[in-house]
Amino acid sequence: MARYVGPRCKLCRREGEKLFLKGERCLTDKCAMERHPYSPGEKGKKYAKESDYSKQLREKQKAKRLYGLLEKQFKGYYSLAARQKGITGENLLRLLELRLDNAVYRLGFAFSRSEARQFVKHGHFMVNGRVVNIPSYRVEPGDIITLSPQGQNVPRIKESAESSSKAQVPVWLEVDYKNFTGKVAEVPRREQIEVPIQEKLIVELYSK
Ligand code: SF4
Repeated sequence: MARYVGPRCKLCRREGEKLFLKGERCLTDKCAMERHPYSPGEKGKKYAKESDYSKQLREKQKAKRLYGLLEKQFKGYYSLAARQKGITGENLLRLLELRLDNAVYRLGFAFSRSEARQFVKHGHFMVNGRVVNIPSYRVEPGDIITLSPQGQNVPRIKESAESSSKAQVPVWLEVDYKNFTGKVAEVPRREQIEVPIQEKLIVELYSK
């Protein structure tokens, strides 16, 4: 499936906030948002005052970039969320969180979502004992996520797990770092999803 392959730091600079798309680098002073905290191509300019439409658009772009999706994929998630019962914005975030690549990242087995996506694509993870190499695969409560035999030889996954702590893992997931295993304990509720996104603005944008 297609994905964005351009410079990721540019995306943070465009949104005016750190989206943590590059793993460890985001926590260092090499972060482009620390060095160049202004929009790309507008050296020295502050972020302009935005109209309502612009705020809604930026929020959608931010969410899309955070989860590493292209427009069509994101719109697909929105359409699905709108068809589900409940609050569309919350449904949307829930669907995005339940992607396998996101769950791997949230469990601490990858330093960033894009890295988690690579690991999944390369068949390094299994769901309920079966290798799943589809990053968008939707996990469900009760699903067990483990390393595949191939994944057990990837030092980077171990490195990430060793630098992670259970305290960082959201409560809808359970992790056992000793055995490199994660479990989806429940479907995440909005308050359990820590993302700097005002989903209401995205719904307003798509409802126009
Ligand atoms: Fe964003 Fe990370 Fe790049 Fe900083 S280092 S601008 S947080 S992707």
